[in-house]
Amino acid sequence: MIKVLQAPIDPVVVRQKFSIVGTTSPENAGKAIGLTIDDQIKTSGPVVGADGAWRVEFVFLQPGNRQLEVAIANESVDVPIEVVAEAVKPIISPRLRFAPLPQNVRAEEAFILRGFADSYQEGDQLILRADKTIELARPRVQAGQWQASLLFHGSGKRLIEIIGSDQDRAQTTLEVQPAALQVLPRSIWTSKPTPSDVANLQPRRITMHHTFVSPTLAPSANQSQEIQRMRQLWQSHVGGNGWSDIGYHYVIMPSGRIYEARFERKRGAHDVINDGLGIAFDGVYTSATISPAQFQSAVALCTTLCKRYGIDDPVKLVPTPTNAFGIRQLPRICAHRDRVQTECPGSGGGRTIRLEEIRQAVRQRL
Ligand SMILES: [Zn+2]
Repeated sequence: MIKVLQAPIDPVVVRQKFSIVGTTSPENAGKAIGLTIDDQIKTSGPVVGADGAWRVEFVFLQPGNRQLEVAIANESVDVPIEVVAEAVKPIISPRLRFAPLPQNVRAEEAFILRGFADSYQEGDQLILRADKTIELARPRVQAGQWQASLLFHGSGKRLIEIIGSDQDRAQTTLEVQPAALQVLPRSIWTSKPTPSDVANLQPRRITMHHTFVSPTLAPSANQSQEIQRMRQLWQSHVGGNGWSDIGYHYVIMPSGRIYEARFERKRGAHDVINDGLGIAFDGVYTSATISPAQFQSAVALCTTLCKRYGIDDPVKLVPTPTNAFGIRQLPRICAHRDRVQTECPGSGGGRTIRLEEIRQAVRQRL
């Protein structure tokens, strides 16, 4: 049974992203959502969540009375959407206003939005809405002001409205910056620090690896499976190889979660020369490609590390000492196999770990 819980009530504007949220039977979890536009064009949407919840984001490029049919398994529901060519001129009320917006609002970080509500009664309730559809909060007026604590999960421009009544509302645009890099600390998988007698490191480059531990975890694996994997790596590097710690500094799981391994300021054990940081994608990538989440996390992590250690061009070739090939011209983000006689990280040119795309994406962000 498909149910729509949330859909645009007011007309949406051409090119304005809106979402439709609903539920279906949990048996449909993981099934693709089919979308049919105006009974004509079929496309496929995201998949149904584990609990049967689903969410479709859509943008219309043409105005009119449009129709979106959402189909899951063999059921469907029609959602009519009125699309207008231009934003209806906002009715800027002199009674409701925003205070200056906070600076540097980031995804996943709570912040407070404030404003003024002139000639409202104490305790009157207002509605704070995003992108015309999503209710964020219902702040109450106190001493002519309102405020709400908010948190966005995604980045981008959001249209924010404070609404007192149909005639009384104010709008503003808030730019939400991408979430800061999240690295799960070492303490999540071990209580032992990297031994202090390991030599210190001033990283000069980044060497990419795969852990070659099979089977590769699914992107949907949970944190306890990943923690298990980190302990397994530690066991094989320390118990098996007799090293002081995991050889790499960071491990990126198929889920995209990044785990701290060896302390970043300590010399690693990953490419014999060890004059840089070692980052490993957990799993086997001799033929499989890293997950999209791993790619995103690798770009974010490498960008942060390049900034931290003054690597200003991760693409440019520089003379680099190697174990097997003498001095070579290599980029500052290189592959294990560029320096050592090995298959790691799986394929020639780092194709399966999308190495060249990672370098290019990082360069753009520096
Ligand atoms: Zn390697």
